[in-house]
Amino acid sequence: MQISVIGIGYVGMVTGACLADLGHSIFFVGRDQKKLNKIKTGKSPIFEPQLDNLLERNKNRIKTTADLSDAVKKTELTFICVGTPSQSDGSVDLQQVKEVTRTIGNSLGSDNKYHIIIVKSTVLPGTTEKLVIPILEKESKKKSFLDFGIASNPEFLKEGSAVYDFFHTDRIVIGVNDQKTREILVQLYQPLSAPIYSTTIRTSEMIKYTSNAFLATKISFANEIGNLCKKMGIDSYDVFEGVGLDTRINTHFFRSGIGFGGSCLPKDIKALIAHGRALGIDPQILNAVIATNDEQPMKMIDLIKQHMDINGRNIGILGLAFKPDTDDIRESRAIPIIKALLKEKANVIAFDPVAMKNFQSLFPGIRYANKAQDVLNASAAVLIVTEWKEFENLDFRGKTVIDGRRNLKAQMTASIYEGVCW
Ligand code: NAD
Repeated sequence: MQISVIGIGYVGMVTGACLADLGHSIFFVGRDQKKLNKIKTGKSPIFEPQLDNLLERNKNRIKTTADLSDAVKKTELTFICVGTPSQSDGSVDLQQVKEVTRTIGNSLGSDNKYHIIIVKSTVLPGTTEKLVIPILEKESKKKSFLDFGIASNPEFLKEGSAVYDFFHTDRIVIGVNDQKTREILVQLYQPLSAPIYSTTIRTSEMIKYTSNAFLATKISFANEIGNLCKKMGIDSYDVFEGVGLDTRINTHFFRSGIGFGGSCLPKDIKALIAHGRALGIDPQILNAVIATNDEQPMKMIDLIKQHMDINGRNIGILGLAFKPDTDDIRESRAIPIIKALLKEKANVIAFDPVAMKNFQSLFPGIRYANKAQDVLNASAAVLIVTEWKEFENLDFRGKTVIDGRRNLKAQMTASIYEGVCW
């Protein structure tokens, strides 16, 4: 199939590259010409394991353009993968979705084939029906489900293993109203041999929010139990292992630490809370999930202060990305931790294998090390913030380590070691 992918961020790049690998022709649509040129050379503008390999080996099926209208006219399917960030009150900023939808609609007006628009961006239930479809119909002067198809197809990838996740997904969710769109999407995803759950557009949108709300709840719950365990001298990891053997609970995502970050969980939970409030429901569990998550990184500051006065001391940070194997720093736990250290007048020296460039634009004033060992050499104490594999090989002898991510080597070798929930 001929497919346009709008947005060359984490979701757009992975979706486009993986679909190209399944044999489809992809038009990546972006606004940044430098990034588009990079894709043309077989290189991804974002870091994600295996992505460069896919772009390189499917170069002949990949085109790039800044002209969205042209891409829509030359293709049969268009994936909307633009950002849906939070506004200051937690609600979703739909500006990017509106903007691309207007252009797509306009382009559909002079397109004679049956084009399908697929909303992959995370949007609240009702957004596709109440916002996207009316804009498309107005701009194109055509009728949805008759002249063009529309679907919701939420994304469940995990940054850091997104390419693997695409090819080994637990399920594909499609929200559709018409048979033709359903058949084409089923055909598109058939090679993945994952269960395809077909439902209404609204339900599909809600499945995405519910999944993220549940995952975030599981993490904050684990952190609350972890905080109790720490006070009682119990290792919360052993507790979760024992509890997770119950198949109703399972061990996945059942870990304590310094909380969740990233571009999805915090923003999606806040969006669901804001939406609930607008509907007259204040979701108590979700409020607590966010409150626990906001407090959790500060445990590292409390712990280090129990061992030293950090004013004027060199404090090392290992890991700046919100999780390993990504350069994404959105809502990384490193951000509130470093802010708190700076407030306490500590000198921060940090290292991350791939996320330092992104972090530098946010914190230009702190020191960045060339390698993890340099952080150890230069610091009075080290905080482990992201669980990068390479940190598991460090020798922490003689060091004070506060561990937010359960680094066993640090636990075994550090002179003074504190885990946040163990
Ligand atoms: P991102 O910020 O990395 O990428 C969005 C891209 O859209 C950017 O490159 C931006 O320049 C581009 N864009 C915006 N307006 C455009 C326009 N008019 N024309 C062309 N390009 C335009 O965001 P992301 O992390 O890829 O997330 C995209 C969506 O997918 C969001 O709704 C997010 O909630 C959802 N999602 C993200 C993840 C994830 O792990 N990152 C997982 C599941 C769902």
